[in-house]
Amino acid sequence: MIEITPDSFFWGCEIEAIYQDIGERQQLVKLIRDCEKNAPSYLLIRSLSEFGNSLDEVTKTITVIEELGIEIIAIDEDYNSSKFKIINNSKTKEKLLNIWNDIRQKIHQKKLLKSHGNNRLNILPPPGKAPFGYLKGKDSYIINRATSSIVRDFFEHFLLYSSVSDSVRYLAKKYDKKIALSTAINWLKNPVYRGDLNYKNKEIISDTHTPIISREEGAQIDRILKSHRLVKPRSASANYSLAGLLRCQQCESSFRISKVKNKKYPEKYLYLIPTKCQGNCNYKSVKYDLVFSEVINKICRDFPLLSKNTNSPDSRVIKQQLETKIKENEDILNKLKTLEIEKILDKETTSLRSYKINLEIGQLKQQIAQLPPDNLEKIAVAISNPQFWYDLSAIECRFYLREFIKVIKINSVNKEEKYIDITLEFIFQSNV
Ligand SMILES: [Zn+2]
Repeated sequence: MIEITPDSFFWGCEIEAIYQDIGERQQLVKLIRDCEKNAPSYLLIRSLSEFGNSLDEVTKTITVIEELGIEIIAIDEDYNSSKFKIINNSKTKEKLLNIWNDIRQKIHQKKLLKSHGNNRLNILPPPGKAPFGYLKGKDSYIINRATSSIVRDFFEHFLLYSSVSDSVRYLAKKYDKKIALSTAINWLKNPVYRGDLNYKNKEIISDTHTPIISREEGAQIDRILKSHRLVKPRSASANYSLAGLLRCQQCESSFRISKVKNKKYPEKYLYLIPTKCQGNCNYKSVKYDLVFSEVINKICRDFPLLSKNTNSPDSRVIKQQLETKIKENEDILNKLKTLEIEKILDKETTSLRSYKINLEIGQLKQQIAQLPPDNLEKIAVAISNPQFWYDLSAIECRFYLREFIKVIKINSVNKEEKYIDITLEFIFQSNV
C-alpha cells in the first residue's frame, strides 16, 4: 500500500542474494541466521532505517551484523561500516549523529505512511480534521448539520452565478464565514463533497459517505471551472453573458466590452473590441447585440444536430459499457467477501484486492460523470427556442452559454456591420 517493490537492478552491482521483507521481518531474521553460518563480505541496504522499527532496534541489528565482520553499505545514508569503525574526530562523530537523526525521522515517516495506508485499506477517512461541512464518524465522514447547509448554499450560489469570488463574498456576507479564494476552489474540486474519499496520493474511492452535491452538479461544476479559465476574474465585462467566450478567428485576440455614447449613437451601445488585434483583421470593433443575436441563432440551429450526434448512440453506449464494468467489479467485491468467509483469503489480502477494485470503480464513475448529460436531447429542445434565451437574465444567460459553449470565434464582419460570420465550438463536441 505504501511503496512499490524495487526491482533487482536497483543496486547497480553484483548481488549474491536478495532479502526482502513485506510488512513483517522474517527475511531479516533469516539474513542474520545465514550470515552467522556463512558471512559474506558485504551487505547492501537501501536505508539503515529498514533494520528495525525504532532507532534502538536498528543499532542493535547493525552491531550484530558488523560483529560478524560484514561491511554494511547503506545507499541512502552514505554509510559504510569501515568509515565509522573508529570514531576519532568530531567530524565523523557529527556525521554519525546526523545519520541517526535521519534514521529516526525516516522511521517516524514510515509509521505515518503505514497508518495512512491502513486507513486506505479499510476505506477510512485519512488522518486529520474532517473537511468543513462534515464530522469524523466512527468509520466515515458524517454530515455536520450545523455547517453542511453553508457548504450547500455556497455550491448553489456558484452553480447559479459561476463566479468563485462572488460565492466567497456571499458566504462572508450571509454566514460571516470567511474563506480564501484558494479554499473555495478547493471545495469546488474536492471529491469529498461528492461523496468520495480523496487520499493524499490522489487515489479516489467513490460513495464512501453522504454527498453534499450530486454527481450531476459535480460534473456541472467541472464544466464551469473548465470554461472559466477563459475569463479574467474581476474584469468589468464579466457581467455580460458573452464575456470571455469570444476569440478572433484570424489573430486569436480576445475581446473587451466598451460602452459607446455619441451623436451618431445617442442610445448607449455596447461594443466588442479585440484587445490584441494587430489591425490585420477586417474590423476594428463589433456591435455586442449583433454578435449576441447571431450566437443565439447559431445555437438554435446547431445544437439540436449536435445533441443528436453525441447522444445517440455513442455516449449512451459508452455509459452502458462503463456501467457494465462497474457491475463486474462489484461482483468481484462480493466474491472476495465469500472467499474471506471461506478462509481461502486472509483479511489483509481481501482488503488489498478490494481497495484496488474500489479504486477502479471510482475511476469508472468519474468517467461516467464526464460524459455529456443524458438528457442532452431534452435540453436541446429548450435551448433551441430563441425566446428561451431572450427571457433569461444576463447572469442566467451567461451561465447557460458557459454550460454549452467552449469558444465563439468571430470570422468576419461585413462593412455595414449588419452581417457577421461566427463559429461556435460546443463543449460536448470534442468529448465524444
Ligand atoms: Zn483579429
